[in-house]
Amino acid sequence: MRGVVQGVGYRPFVYRLATEEQISGWVGNDSEGVVIEAEGTTDRIDRFVQRLKAEWPPLARVDSVDWEEAAPLGESGFFIHASHHGGNARTGIPADAATCDDCQRELNDLADRRYGYAFLNCTNCGPRFTITRSVPYDRPQTSMASFTMCPACQREYDAPLNRRFHAQPNACPACGPALQFVAAANGTAQSKIQNPLTETIHRLARGEIIAIKGVGGFHLAVDATNEHAVQLLRQRKHRAGKPFAVMVKDLAAVRRLCEVSDAESHLLTGPERPIVLLRKRNLTALAPSVAPGIPWLGVFLPYAPLHHLLFASGQLAALVMTSANLSDEPICIDNSEARERLDGIADGFLMHNREILQRCDDSVMAIVEGLPQVIRRARGYVPLPVALPVSAPPLLAVGGQMKSVLTLARGVEAFQSQHLGDLEDRSALEFFESALGHLQSTFEVTPEFIAHDLHPDYFSTLWAVEYARAHHLPVIGVQHHHAHIASCMAEHGRTDKVIGIALDGTGYGTDGTVWGGEVMIADLCEFRRVAHLRPLPMPGGSKAIEQPWRMALSAVYTLLGGDAAGALELPEHESQLLLQWMKRGQVGVLTSSCGRLFDAVAALVLGRHTVDYEAQAAIELEGVASEDDCGCYPVDITTGKEALIIEPAQMLRQLISELHLRIPVGEISARFHAWMAASFAQVAQRVREKTHLETVCLSGGSMHNRILTRLLRRELETMGFQVLLQTKVSPGDGGLSYGQAAVAAARIQRGLQR
Ligand code: ZN
Ligand code: ZN
Ligand code: FE
Repeated sequence: MRGVVQGVGYRPFVYRLATEEQISGWVGNDSEGVVIEAEGTTDRIDRFVQRLKAEWPPLARVDSVDWEEAAPLGESGFFIHASHHGGNARTGIPADAATCDDCQRELNDLADRRYGYAFLNCTNCGPRFTITRSVPYDRPQTSMASFTMCPACQREYDAPLNRRFHAQPNACPACGPALQFVAAANGTAQSKIQNPLTETIHRLARGEIIAIKGVGGFHLAVDATNEHAVQLLRQRKHRAGKPFAVMVKDLAAVRRLCEVSDAESHLLTGPERPIVLLRKRNLTALAPSVAPGIPWLGVFLPYAPLHHLLFASGQLAALVMTSANLSDEPICIDNSEARERLDGIADGFLMHNREILQRCDDSVMAIVEGLPQVIRRARGYVPLPVALPVSAPPLLAVGGQMKSVLTLARGVEAFQSQHLGDLEDRSALEFFESALGHLQSTFEVTPEFIAHDLHPDYFSTLWAVEYARAHHLPVIGVQHHHAHIASCMAEHGRTDKVIGIALDGTGYGTDGTVWGGEVMIADLCEFRRVAHLRPLPMPGGSKAIEQPWRMALSAVYTLLGGDAAGALELPEHESQLLLQWMKRGQVGVLTSSCGRLFDAVAALVLGRHTVDYEAQAAIELEGVASEDDCGCYPVDITTGKEALIIEPAQMLRQLISELHLRIPVGEISARFHAWMAASFAQVAQRVREKTHLETVCLSGGSMHNRILTRLLRRELETMGFQVLLQTKVSPGDGGLSYGQAAVAAARIQRGLQR
């Protein structure tokens, strides 16, 4: 049996089935998975095999089964062979899993020896990836190595039918890790407190900010119902408007705050336990500054016993739980590191002595068009592989710059790292390198090729080129939007030609301009750009991203002329200055980005002139859009020298005149979304007329926009296209490295690498 079959209770599960079906033989791990020798009568063997296919332990995933017949040996009894060392590389380390129902019951059972114990776990739940130093996944390789199991725990660990059989982090209050509360250094003298948990709960209820050590790192926690406390956290963390995620006790509590579909509740309660972006319903109970200005709230449920205990007393209804870091630095994992880096932010620290060995943020998911969509892939998902449609030699794909994720590929498996943040400073680079080192040793992959983005200044590109030179490895450059489309194709197992629509904020184009509103004909090896949004100047470069009013001015000036631009209500002094520059022809780099056009429109429609976080303007514009059918602005497609061009001028002219008429912004936003979708769908239609391609892959960060994705998909499906959306890999830049790996594998296979 291959797949996720080690460290997840698979052998005891087989043992139980074998015993029930009176099969003799054995089960053991080898370097590729689990091996079973089963001896019995034909009908018993048949039933045994049937059940192996139909049943599995909660965290296991069987990808393939090979079998052959052997002569009977007359064996009696069924045995579990112990793990043999040095051979677990191919199966790696399981992902972290949320506390299971059985453990939750024990946690609340006064009579249980683990009542109220913050570190209980079993074969079906608990930390895995985050506490493991290297393979094989066995206790000595984890941060539980420093705790010796007491006789009671050891008995559970050794008993094949116990649900803690070979549960590597098995622990109890007598032998395992313990909590500790430390008041912030700038307060009273450092004091060790008798009951760290009640101390934490009291302080949170009083409005203090507490750093809480979790599974993949520290959180900064505050009472989400206390406006003053949430404001204080924003102030100290230097986080102005970016929404916070909220943890609540259970599904019923989520439903009181947000609308929850079946698909969403499935995500919320799964063992991965991600943050799920839900539509707000009634947030009167929450502090207004938790997630201001948008109709969504990120919500997650307790996933570690410690979280359950925080809510058990009933004193806390909802907690802001945000990664403990300053702005976009990597999350804190180490006790002394947390004390140092969170000095001046946290009022106290709820810590413990089980070391976190791999940093791992909370994952973020959403349901878009009824399907799961990855926004941030980390805890609970890493390091599980995603399949590739072509077999790859050992290779490394380094991804992009923002929302960095790296991918190691080998054969038909791609191992993505956890979300590494934005590669902009020293600490992010260290995180990148340590994640690479860990993933390399975990899966025993020594890269023979390096794939990277074409952007010459991306930190990841510079790193890749340097690394390749030092190790004498060939590099493979992959265009940003080709990587997006390839990641969508690869996750659906497609290698043939498709129409790709890649919409995002920024990606380096092969002509040196910034792309981001792209239609291409692509297979995994190559692509041809066949249409794009009319390129607009980005005045001030990256400043234009932070200040959407610049894009508004640029779009109106370029498309409608100086008079129209002069009449806009924009930051007066600066916009006059910029207008003068533009009139002199000093315009800045050109971009065909969908995200920048969203920025321009959001600045005009909402007066959103500057942003506090990435994509804020676009998210707010989506947020106000009416759900009703409001029609569409005129679609205008012209033929350029090499590609079709989607012209926004007519749309923009009509939109501005509607603003003057004080038409509700919800209608205007809806019409703009409809225009964007209709424009790209009509382009796809024209591409199909020439190519007869029937499949459209949708990717790029703009696919996080639910309205845009819905309209695009429906429009294309009405035209009879097969539309592929991503569900396993992020359509945003977090999915780039997976796409790069797919392209690199395909090119190497065809001997096309350069
Ligand atoms: Zn459990
Ligand atoms: Zn114990
Ligand atoms: Fe992108």
